[in-house]
Amino acid sequence: MLEAKCPKCRKGDLFSVPVFSFKRLTHIHSTCPHCGEDLMPEPDFYYGAMYISYALSVALFLTVIVAINILFGDLAIWIYIVTVIALNLLLLPLMLRYSKVLYLYMLGKIHYEPNRG
Ligand SMILES: [Zn+2]
Repeated sequence: MLEAKCPKCRKGDLFSVPVFSFKRLTHIHSTCPHCGEDLMPEPDFYYGAMYISYALSVALFLTVIVAINILFGDLAIWIYIVTVIALNLLLLPLMLRYSKVLYLYMLGKIHYEPNRG
C-alpha cells in the first residue's frame, strides 16, 4: 500500500505519474496496468478520499503544533501558523495521493490475489 500499488496484484502502479510531477498528480489508472483490475469501482468513487485527505491535514496540524511545542517551547503564534501552512503545502501531493490509496484499499472491495496477472 505504501508504494501505491494495485490492491489486487500488488504489482501494477496505481498512479500514472511520479509523485512530484504536478500535472495529473492524483490521476489513478482506471484499470491496473498489470492485472487489469478495475480501479474505479464507481464513477465518483474517489470523492470520499477528500475526507481522508482532510483528516490527514488535521492530524499533521496537531502533530506539528505538539512537536514545535515540545522542541522549542512556547513560540509566537505566527511561527506555528507559518510552519503548519508550509508543511501542509509541502506534503499536500503526498497526502492527496495517499488519501486515495487508503480509500481504495479500505473501501474498494479489492482483495489481494497473489497469483493474478
Ligand atoms: Zn493489479
